[in-house]
Amino acid sequence: MSQPGVMDETVKSRAGLALNDDFLRKAVKFTTERLRNGKKAASEEHGNWEEWRERGRQIRLHTIAHLDYYLNEFVNNARANGVHIHFADTSAEAASIALDIAAHKQATSVVKSKSMVSEEVHLNHVLESAGIEAIETDLGEYIIQLAGEAPSHIVIPAIHKNRYQIAELLSKEAGEVLEPDTTVLAGFVRKKLREKFLEADIGLTGCNFAIAETGSMVLFENEGNARMVSTVPKTQITLMGMERIIPSWADLEVMATLLPRSATGQKLTMYMSGITGPRRSADADGPDEMHIIIVDNGRSLQLGDPEFQELLNCIRCGACLNACPVYRHIGGHAYGGIYSGPIGAVLTPALNGNIEEWNDIASASSLCGACYEACPVKIPLHDMLVYLRRRKVEDGHGNKLETMGMKGFAAVAANSKRFALAIRLGQIGQKAVVRNNGISLKLGPLKGWNTYRVAPSLAKKSFRQQWNSLDQELNQQQHTAMDTSVRERMQQIVRDRGEGGSKHGK
Ligand code: SF4
Repeated sequence: MSQPGVMDETVKSRAGLALNDDFLRKAVKFTTERLRNGKKAASEEHGNWEEWRERGRQIRLHTIAHLDYYLNEFVNNARANGVHIHFADTSAEAASIALDIAAHKQATSVVKSKSMVSEEVHLNHVLESAGIEAIETDLGEYIIQLAGEAPSHIVIPAIHKNRYQIAELLSKEAGEVLEPDTTVLAGFVRKKLREKFLEADIGLTGCNFAIAETGSMVLFENEGNARMVSTVPKTQITLMGMERIIPSWADLEVMATLLPRSATGQKLTMYMSGITGPRRSADADGPDEMHIIIVDNGRSLQLGDPEFQELLNCIRCGACLNACPVYRHIGGHAYGGIYSGPIGAVLTPALNGNIEEWNDIASASSLCGACYEACPVKIPLHDMLVYLRRRKVEDGHGNKLETMGMKGFAAVAANSKRFALAIRLGQIGQKAVVRNNGISLKLGPLKGWNTYRVAPSLAKKSFRQQWNSLDQELNQQQHTAMDTSVRERMQQIVRDRGEGGSKHGK
């Protein structure tokens, strides 16, 4: 699942590299902001967005709860349409089925439209090892294929590259210097890929949704390359995760409303193709032979798991990546797996079933919940990240210093006298380092935080100290009725505390 060499490092060291890469940071920030603003505008313009999210969530919950039934219905209908269905338990099995089909067809080249499952199963590597040329035809995928990299975003694979870097890559391929102009660059790729579409023996696609009631599969795209891949070559292979199913075309209406708006802020992508089997005699085009490989590769581990089952609801829109303050700073490669951002931080260990191996990526989150707010099917990723962190500590993989610190904090916070003493000592101790009501000391455990922001200092007088001194004042006045000015001051303290608390939580 990891990129070669990447797992030798930690998330922290990879994030450090990303933070020092100004090009990457600017490119990721620019595009994620554009996508986030687009999604916000599109969902506001649509109206009733929360109701549509809830409808989408209900469709996904229902489908996954009855996945065996709908998968069976899909498979029966697809077979009746003339599609060859294959099941793959593992990534190796999926790649080997695709390779067998290619060998049977004596294929020498495969054109591919965007498919995260094919990344999961390392299909390009497997095909190329067998001497079969695999060509990515999605522009972003083509760019990162030339760069020898993995995608750094589910929807925008080359999000971390700017046009100057892309011009350099494409110039090498063209054998001449291409201007860093998007029209020139796209024009070169279009011409190059047209030849590849015409030559290819096999077209390979992913699958956004598989419709159980008719055995059809649906693709959303903007470049028209998936339509070329699924119509020009004589043989088509589709790789689909086993959870891609939805029951009916009526359900697709809801998903087609949620997916493009959440992914790119579009009402609908430029192309939406529904494919129901290979070419029929009256059809003008389309493949003569069609195969669908239904891939498990760890998905069934999530079925019935109370912590992770909702991951199967994911429609791979990427909105959680665009909303995540951590992803927006470090991009996708820092996560170390095929999937990145909040969904990747949970999906990668869940797909692997090996939480220990990936136990540091759950730390790449501020737990702010922005991923949940952005998710069109309301997957509680922040709860799953907390669960992963808890598992890490319970399994003895926690940071020893942090574990000791939390134990110490629990011992202090559980006893009011110790807590008051600790606050007092803190107030005295911080005097040497507080500037303008904040601590910006770049030393010890505060170094990471204080490199980019100022840590809040303890209030000169804590809530308890203020409350106790007013209480004493009141007792000294020895009135039976509470003095109005003291009462007002006590109420003000409570109000201040409430406002301070809500500001902090925003
Ligand atoms: S978790 Fe939600 S927001 Fe993230 S990719 Fe999946 S569906 Fe989209």
